[in-house]
Amino acid sequence: MKAVFLDRDGTIVEERGYITVPDDVALIPGAAEGIAALRAAGWKVLVVSNQGAVAKGLLTEDDLSQINLRMVALLAAAGAQVDGVYCCPHHPDGTEPEYAIDCDCRKPRPGLLEQAARDHDLDLPECVMVGDTARDLEAGRAAGVASTVLVLTGHGPKTIGEEHGADHVAKDLAEAARWIAARAV
Ligand SMILES: [Mg+2]
Ligand SMILES: [Zn+2]
Repeated sequence: MKAVFLDRDGTIVEERGYITVPDDVALIPGAAEGIAALRAAGWKVLVVSNQGAVAKGLLTEDDLSQINLRMVALLAAAGAQVDGVYCCPHHPDGTEPEYAIDCDCRKPRPGLLEQAARDHDLDLPECVMVGDTARDLEAGRAAGVASTVLVLTGHGPKTIGEEHGADHVAKDLAEAARWIAARAV
């Protein structure tokens, strides 16, 4: 089974620093369109997100679930569906002892992608990672995905000036989806 892994903030949801309440969730133009196109082309779509704000005590895991549900509802209203949402609540500099760890799931490490791969029976060498920062793409490479796409939403315009190693650069998720769907994988 092949999947596209999507970063959340700056890729699907407008980047607003730490999002701590559902009302702060707004979809980036093209995000729902891109997700719907990927699923129509036979890809699973899995969201993989660093949410170190939990470790910093800015929100609880329940708050985070409510925020993710808001994103899912907005996507559904726009005709798009995701197959799963995976978040890393940890941060090595966190203030909440149970979350202040050097975990394996915080991107650029591949733990979230590997967990999703186990849950959804994915073949990681057939998967694609899409994100707006270099560490998203690094997590994809660490997990062994086929290719990585940098989107120029969120932090993308800054990332393009860094060492990012993306196989493709897309204006937004809709354009990323067109590139991915056109591939022979
Ligand atoms: Mg991001
Ligand atoms: Zn983690």
